[in-house]
Amino acid sequence: MLSQSQVNKLKSILGDKDVITSKIGMYAYGYDGTMLEGAHVAVVFPESTQEVVEVVNFCREQGIALVPRGAGTNVSGGTLPSEGSIVINFARMNKVLEIDLENYVAIVEPGVVNWDIQEILAKYGYYYPPDPASWKASTIGGNLGESSGGPKCFKYGVTRDFIYGLEVVLPNGKVIWVGGRDFSSEPMYDLTRIIVGSEGTLGFITKAALRIQPVPQAKRTMLGIFNTPEDCSQAVADIVAAGIIPTTLEMMDNLIINTTEDYAHAGNPRDAGALIIIEVDGYAADLDAQVETIRKVCEKDNAKEFRIAKSAAEVDQIWLARRVAFGSVARVKPNYGINDITVPRSEFPKAIAGIEKVKKDFGATIGIVAHAGDGNLHPLILYDQRNKEEVDLLHKAEMVLCELALSLGGTVSGEHGIGILKKALMPKEFGEQTLNVFKKIKRAFDPQNKFNPGKIIDL
Ligand SMILES: Cc1cc2nc3c(=O)[nH]c(=O)nc-3n(C[C@H](O)[C@H](O)[C@H](O)COP(=O)(O)OP(=O)(O)OC[C@H]3O[C@@H](n4cnc5c(N)ncnc54)[C@H](O)[C@@H]3O)c2cc1C
Repeated sequence: MLSQSQVNKLKSILGDKDVITSKIGMYAYGYDGTMLEGAHVAVVFPESTQEVVEVVNFCREQGIALVPRGAGTNVSGGTLPSEGSIVINFARMNKVLEIDLENYVAIVEPGVVNWDIQEILAKYGYYYPPDPASWKASTIGGNLGESSGGPKCFKYGVTRDFIYGLEVVLPNGKVIWVGGRDFSSEPMYDLTRIIVGSEGTLGFITKAALRIQPVPQAKRTMLGIFNTPEDCSQAVADIVAAGIIPTTLEMMDNLIINTTEDYAHAGNPRDAGALIIIEVDGYAADLDAQVETIRKVCEKDNAKEFRIAKSAAEVDQIWLARRVAFGSVARVKPNYGINDITVPRSEFPKAIAGIEKVKKDFGATIGIVAHAGDGNLHPLILYDQRNKEEVDLLHKAEMVLCELALSLGGTVSGEHGIGILKKALMPKEFGEQTLNVFKKIKRAFDPQNKFNPGKIIDL
């Protein structure tokens, strides 16, 4: 618990309304997309870089750890507050500071919600490609913390690929700008790419120069429906092998097809083994040939149906099931553990087969959603948090899935980060020498280990 004088000092920096110490306030900001709970003592809401600096300096003097938070939608325990820490919530630093179309850049504060910047850019015919499925809630600061991906990232890249530069408050209270403002080349060490994805362990991002681009002239949306997940995953591999880079290759399996039908009546056949939503974009003149190639590949891989959207309403209809996929599983079990194991695309069919085996071995209920083009799978393990046996089974099955990804030359996390949940797997994925380099980087930035301690690696 903070002393009254510590609370008073924080209020003198931030104002009364921007410091919370009530029990209910701790509860509201103590969770994230995992079912874990934190043990923090206050939540603060800075409104400027200067306020962040003053909070950081005060906490350093007092030996208090700080845990940065955006919308708290991460699913790896990344915002889980450590014992006695203060949560620094960036929600009120949510201004779009500049949009510079000539140089394809938008400068924003970290609390800007991804969807909000997309809506603003859309008015100018521009967009920011990283589009996590949580984009209506998740913030740019959180997206940067995790280097988030999304459906469009197969063609365009993840958050890390769309940042020119960042303003960062370091653990010593100094403010630095890393990277460029409207260009991405950086001589010397590429600090921007080290800080993006570092889950708030190296510095707090207070401004970001996002690389934006014009909305493509045209797009086509298709749906391939298959009898088996194996055929579907083969089609994913074959579409890319045919030389096409779709914007989106989103897959879902039979369980998710059925939960989304129950919930949203998306019009997909309940007996299908799996489906993929395929989108291509670019110049209109180039797209018809790509659609034709994709149709032929799906037919070769035994698609039972292949649809091409002919109107905006049909596009929405195709996307409906994917949009409601995660929420729809609540009809089966109250909780789900979401994974983001990722494998080389060529190993995608083997990963699908491996997940099927985990289902059988553990008797687990697992639905699969995947950013399939990236080999990025989201097996959703459905369970009931109130049932200890199911919780144990969840954790065991998650570890086996991670081992599966590593055995196929993949990674335990394609986009959700390591946080707390996957920390134990770091030595296996990276090996001792690389981990030692990670630790040295962390110590160089944060020698006292007070910025989001206990996440990614233990020192
Ligand atoms: C339904 C659902 C769908 C999802 N879909 C996707 C998806 O398609 N792709 C994907 O990649 N993820 C997805 N996620 C996971 C999650 O939404 C992303 O990780 C997202 O980027 C987190 O944003 P946030 O604002 O909620 O950040 P938070 O969860 O608050 O924080 C995320 C990390 O960033 C750090 N952080 C926050 N702000 C700052 C800052 N200013 N400076 C430094 N560090 C900071 C935090 O400490 C934490 O480590 C999904 C989650 C849900 C619940």
